[in-house]
Amino acid sequence: MDSQDFRQAGKRMVDYVADYWDELRTGQRRPLPPVKPGYLDELMPEAPTKPDGWDRIFQDLEPMIMNGNTNWHHPHFFAYFPTACSYPAIAADILSGGISAVGFTWKSCPSMTELEMSTLDWLVDLLNLPQHFKNAAEGPGCGIIQSTASDATLIAIFAARATAVEKIKVFPSFFERVASSKVGETIKTLLSKVRQNTVEEETNECAALPYYHDPTVFEKFVAYCSDQAHSSVEKGAMLSGIRLRKLTSSLDEQLGNYALTKETLEKAIKEDRAKGLIPFMLIATVGTTSTCGVDHLEEIGPVCNKEGIWLHVDAAYAGSFLICPEFHYLAKGMEFVDSYNFNAHKCLMMNFDCSPMWFKNGAHIVKYFNVDPLYLKHEHQATASDYRHLQVALGRRFRSLKIWFVLRSLGVARLQEYLRGLDKLAGVFAELIQKDEDFELFVPKHLGLKNNEENEKLCNALNDDGRIHLVPSKVHGSYFLRLAICSQFTKEEDIHFAYKVIKEIKEKEIDSL
Ligand code: PLP
Repeated sequence: MDSQDFRQAGKRMVDYVADYWDELRTGQRRPLPPVKPGYLDELMPEAPTKPDGWDRIFQDLEPMIMNGNTNWHHPHFFAYFPTACSYPAIAADILSGGISAVGFTWKSCPSMTELEMSTLDWLVDLLNLPQHFKNAAEGPGCGIIQSTASDATLIAIFAARATAVEKIKVFPSFFERVASSKVGETIKTLLSKVRQNTVEEETNECAALPYYHDPTVFEKFVAYCSDQAHSSVEKGAMLSGIRLRKLTSSLDEQLGNYALTKETLEKAIKEDRAKGLIPFMLIATVGTTSTCGVDHLEEIGPVCNKEGIWLHVDAAYAGSFLICPEFHYLAKGMEFVDSYNFNAHKCLMMNFDCSPMWFKNGAHIVKYFNVDPLYLKHEHQATASDYRHLQVALGRRFRSLKIWFVLRSLGVARLQEYLRGLDKLAGVFAELIQKDEDFELFVPKHLGLKNNEENEKLCNALNDDGRIHLVPSKVHGSYFLRLAICSQFTKEEDIHFAYKVIKEIKEKEIDSL
């Protein structure tokens, strides 16, 4: 394919995508595809030895790809969470792929580094986050785009772990001050182990670990989250060899859904210290996956700060709503937070992947994540930012183009309109459920997420029927159906449609038993 062929095929592909979006409501597509596992295997030809023409490739798109595609933007898709998208975001990804730069250091792509720094500073203002998170602020705060919320949590765990190890090694009195005598004992034992290790290192050919990644210190660490935290928190803790204690959430009197309380956290810290463990981190959630609960940062933040515990906030879904002033209450207490993340690819009309993350003190992370081979060094290292030190991977793509294009092309008002629309439609569904004595709201409506309590059979029957798609969840033993407003094409009539389908399937599949 040469540039002339690319012009033709590229234009044809843009038309294909535009048609897909235009026909999503009126066409034949449903939220879930009509295929079974292994469907593609039967259609796949042998690996090509000679080039196929673009006509042939285009012909295969419908039967092989689109027929097996879950249509996340279908107006009747109510599962998981939104994965927002827009034409400017798609255009940004075309450019990102088109220039195919890999901006791990400032020098490897100055515009990628600098646009990311500037657009994340824009977001600090637009989302009403603390000014100390800004890349341009005096001080060590900084922002970076990670790929996913799971990556951000993992990185926060690595950063918190190293910070705690460093505090113990360099300032053991800090931990002794906040610790009971039992923890003081633990730290003394750990320090003596560390000294032994250091002696061994001198005769060992393996490179020594930097002192802040010493695993003998973190074996006594315990991190916390609520039992409503996303499964990625458990995965992050597991992969980093960290003990995670899931604290029981309570019914939140303010919002009516499930959240972690200050009292539960304080009790856990006391209990664990008495056992000789070292509490070092809390991963709080703003907008839990099951019920959109909020761990109130203004309550739990001061506890974390007083106890020397790193506070990471996973606001994967709800974080986008901060672009509307009426939702700023979600971020009350953000000044206590050490690291914060949300998925712009959920509700800011930027397609996957775009997961901004901020650190109160990025200078520490740069030290903890730093490896510095000759081939990555450059002459501006002392003054420019190298994003490779704030992530796990080395390579990175030009994600900030999406923020730049979307904010410039759609403007904040359009984003606010979209988010307010999600919230309003959730309200419409809540009202329908509340009025119907066959159903019960499991928790009150919060943002674009709505729930009703039903059983597994109804959920399976609805998804087998295929006119709408939603997923269930379980909180404290109760199984319920969870309806999230996802698509930007969903209108009030689609909410009535969803309600009608749920009611019809319930009467057919449950009442008839
Ligand atoms: N955290 C929360 C609260 C979520 O709801 C989700 C996904 O829906 C995640 C984390 C994981 O997101 P990601 O796919 O970006 O890792």
